[in-house]
Amino acid sequence: MIDNGFSIKETDKRMQRLGVLGSQVSAILVTHEHADHLGGVARYARRYDIPVWASHGTAAMIKKLDSVQCFNSHQAFSLADFIIEPVLVPHDAREPTQFVFQSDGMRFGVMTDTGSITQHMLDALSDCDALLLECNYDHDMLVNGPYPESLKRRVLGDWGHLDNQQAIALLQKLDTEKLQHLVLAHVSEKNNSHELVLDSVSRAIQCDRAWLQVIDQDDGLAWCNLD
Ligand SMILES: [Zn+2]
Ligand SMILES: [Zn+2]
Repeated sequence: MIDNGFSIKETDKRMQRLGVLGSQVSAILVTHEHADHLGGVARYARRYDIPVWASHGTAAMIKKLDSVQCFNSHQAFSLADFIIEPVLVPHDAREPTQFVFQSDGMRFGVMTDTGSITQHMLDALSDCDALLLECNYDHDMLVNGPYPESLKRRVLGDWGHLDNQQAIALLQKLDTEKLQHLVLAHVSEKNNSHELVLDSVSRAIQCDRAWLQVIDQDDGLAWCNLD
């Protein structure tokens, strides 16, 4: 499991939808300490006795657990059936990382919270077989939208989030030849729309709209298989 911002009940409901149990989770990896990612981690970990893993900086922000397993943000490590490459990202947290998972010769990249694109990210995400990528906001919708000015500046900034155009720019710099699944995630409910994400991404990378998947905050996503 990567991050958890939900109650135990809500998490169990979402897990059930996917046919898995909390007791089957071998680890929770925490990308960073923002509440939508960390808020539900400690209680879920305690409920099912799941080890929690994070960078040293993120671990220092996890106050509600007695022990957190730390990984070196610059070094791949093994966990369950995966080799996990942490990817340091520019985001306004203490030591935020995202991940690339390797198993059976397949690579799955996850990138949900980053304010700008770095060469380090491009190197890590190139050559993935599946990618879950943040498309947080539409620039004009955010600028003209309901957020207070200070929050707008934060989201827009280099340590905030990627907008649709930045996500597209990132995709256009990657080698996506092997990509079987592209999942667009962390989509703001106030400053973006699924239609806009599907339209702009499919047009920019010239793929079929129906091939793309956008994660809905309520409905989540079904399993995606790689072969
Ligand atoms: Zn964040
Ligand atoms: Zn976030």
